Amino acid sequence: MQVKSHNDKVQASLKENSATVYAKHYFSNHDMNPKGLNMLTINEIKQIDVEKDDIPATPSVKAVVLSKSQLEKGTGNTKPKFYAVIADETGSISVTIYNDKDYDKFIVGFGVVLINILLKQSYVAVTSRSDVAICKSFAIPDDVTKNAVSLPGQEVPSLKSAMLSPVKTILSVKAKVVKVSPSTTKSFNGTELAFQELALKDNTGSATLSVWDQMVNTCETGQLIRVNKCRVRLFNDVKKLSTTRDSTLEVINHDDTLDDVSSEEEDINGDEPANLELPSGTLVAVFEVDPYLACPRSACNNKKLITVLEKEKYLMQCKNCMSRYRGDNCNLYIRSTMLLKSNHDGDTKKVTIFKPNILKMFESRGVSSTITADKNEMFENLLEIIPFDIKYTLINNTIKEMKATCLLFWMLIRFRRGHP
Ligand SMILES: [Zn+2]
Repeated sequence: MQVKSHNDKVQASLKENSATVYAKHYFSNHDMNPKGLNMLTINEIKQIDVEKDDIPATPSVKAVVLSKSQLEKGTGNTKPKFYAVIADETGSISVTIYNDKDYDKFIVGFGVVLINILLKQSYVAVTSRSDVAICKSFAIPDDVTKNAVSLPGQEVPSLKSAMLSPVKTILSVKAKVVKVSPSTTKSFNGTELAFQELALKDNTGSATLSVWDQMVNTCETGQLIRVNKCRVRLFNDVKKLSTTRDSTLEVINHDDTLDDVSSEEEDINGDEPANLELPSGTLVAVFEVDPYLACPRSACNNKKLITVLEKEKYLMQCKNCMSRYRGDNCNLYIRSTMLLKSNHDGDTKKVTIFKPNILKMFESRGVSSTITADKNEMFENLLEIIPFDIKYTLINNTIKEMKATCLLFWMLIRFRRGHP
């Protein structure tokens, strides 16, 4: 056991204060000003939006190693790498280490100080510009270890937990293929690649797997497959799994946990499993409410009408079909812009929501609110029912599919207020 003997050596040196060990290790190799280090907690790292926020100089973290993968030898143009999961008092995160020299420094159950890491939203990376020190272990709260992220590439126990993993997580799953879409090509980073989608199912749920390149057309409906190292990705705000260059897809003959999974694809479109795929969030604020008259022709899809003057009378005109209507022949429609907070990344964005979903919101709260042309009244009615939890699909920042969630809380409030 190579690691064991290494552990002993480390243990001896750790009799010294951990901070001293770390400082010695670090400052013997670097002339950098110690004030230049930014020690961050894992939770702080996760809060940084790497695309928007300013990334602190020399981001560094002190954590305990929870698990570690095998070392993957590099090929001609890829570096050797391995993965680890680290945790501190505030949470856990996975680390990709792009070298083999640090392999022995990541010891499960020991502490590490990672200096000048690369922040990648849902994981961090140790590169040739980073430095790794070993330190004493420290206590990690039970709920952090229990809910720790899984080691990248590790098989997750179920499709449900795969779909609950953070975006960009690399994981492996096994499932039954219940539908295979026709193959097509898609542009990816400027290259045309073969592409298809597989509907996967196991006893816990379902998922869509986007399959790329050589893995296209390698399995059929009804087969059991194991996909190694696919990535959780967001497509139009819907979580899907996607193969990467590192992925492998193999057909397996038999698996105990998948024996009684039906091949019925219909189940996937049923209420329960489909719910799993919808992202969830909360409508937290209302920007604007706009009731308006819309074209009554169904082909015009509730196009907002404009007022025109014809023979000294005001009429409503559709800019789509160009028809003119009297006001009482038009549809009363409504649109609202609201602030949506995503449960996945905590991101907030301005979204547009139209009449059918606004009605759904009122109905699910048991508010018998009809849509009226009174802007202020509609505004107040919406303010009454937020914050409002939903599952949704988003297309161009418009909420399309929507389900209200968590009724109980509101029933209770209304009850307290003395509503029936
Ligand atoms: Zn029209």
